[in-house]
Amino acid sequence: MARVYNFSAGPAALPEEVLQQAQTEMLDWHGSGMSVMEMSHRGKEFLSIAQQAEADLREIMAIPGNYKVLFLQGGASLQFAMVPLNLLNGKTGADYINTGAWSKKAVAEAKRFCKVNIAATTEETKFTSTPAQDDLQLDSGAAYVHYTPNETIGGVEFPYIPDTGDVPLVADLSSTILSRPIDVSKFGVIYAGAQKNIGPSGLAVVIIREDLIGHADETVPAMLNYQIQADGESMYNTPPTYTWYVAGLVFDWIKRKGGLNAMAQINERKASKLYAAIDASDFYHNPVEVKSRSWMNVPFTLANADLDSVFLAEAKDKGLVTLKGHRSVGGMRASIYNAMPEEGVDALIEFMRDFEKRNA
Ligand SMILES: *Cc1c(COP(=O)(O)O)cnc(C)c1O
Repeated sequence: MARVYNFSAGPAALPEEVLQQAQTEMLDWHGSGMSVMEMSHRGKEFLSIAQQAEADLREIMAIPGNYKVLFLQGGASLQFAMVPLNLLNGKTGADYINTGAWSKKAVAEAKRFCKVNIAATTEETKFTSTPAQDDLQLDSGAAYVHYTPNETIGGVEFPYIPDTGDVPLVADLSSTILSRPIDVSKFGVIYAGAQKNIGPSGLAVVIIREDLIGHADETVPAMLNYQIQADGESMYNTPPTYTWYVAGLVFDWIKRKGGLNAMAQINERKASKLYAAIDASDFYHNPVEVKSRSWMNVPFTLANADLDSVFLAEAKDKGLVTLKGHRSVGGMRASIYNAMPEEGVDALIEFMRDFEKRNA
């Protein structure tokens, strides 16, 4: 059996050691005689798994004590709705920063519930940049400010955390959570779909400051109410137990690898060498302004788009897969999350150089 280097944007590659541990524990988790999939979510075995996962995430992200950590279903997309449903708290509007495809989806969903003020948009650069702090037209009466620190499709990442004063900052961190240390205390809410840098799909991790919980309207469904989910320890109903377990294995893997400082060092190195290879060539091109380039998702085009399908086929033969760019952008996209080993990036760069030599 040969494992490939999988550059998928999500569901994305998982660390091989995590998959091996899951395999070892598949039939009999720690002498329980059963798989994690078969356990009651209220039994002491699964409760220990759930609590350890939360404790490890709190440790690696240094999450302050006045934040709750929730493990919810519905992915990041359900948070597009849960955020306004829980945070408006009598206010009528919220600020949104628009830096691309995922920002737009968050805006579209919020418009069902409130007046959306676009505090800044980078549409005029075709979403190849991030706005500067001074360009944010923030409304001091807004219920919150929402932004997307890393746009997974455009490969655009904020080089700073916006300062929103007393207005809570909400971040869709789906594709860059755990890629480096982050000061959680600067945020009101952080949420992330799991299938990029956390674990399998089916789970969203929500990190929320306690004072922002408990303001949902009576009409908000129980499943969508942060208060009810927090009171139930994310077990108001049956949670996605196996996904939660694998996420816990990933948190433990990050801890053993040296935490988020170690992740940041490797991620920066991986991204820098890939961008350097792209920039050194006239054959490959990345359109994003240098300071806003994503560490996690690296889109690039070929000078001759007719070669795209040949590039993808030859890459696949070399065990480099899922490099096709998002349908809205075209070209290629290499997603290089934590689980992508540096050797995978090296192999991609070597293939790109060789392909260029033969085709330029
Ligand atoms: C993948 C992604 C989403 C959507 O996640 P789902 O879990 O599929 O809902 C939202 N935002 C960003 C930034 C993403 O990368």
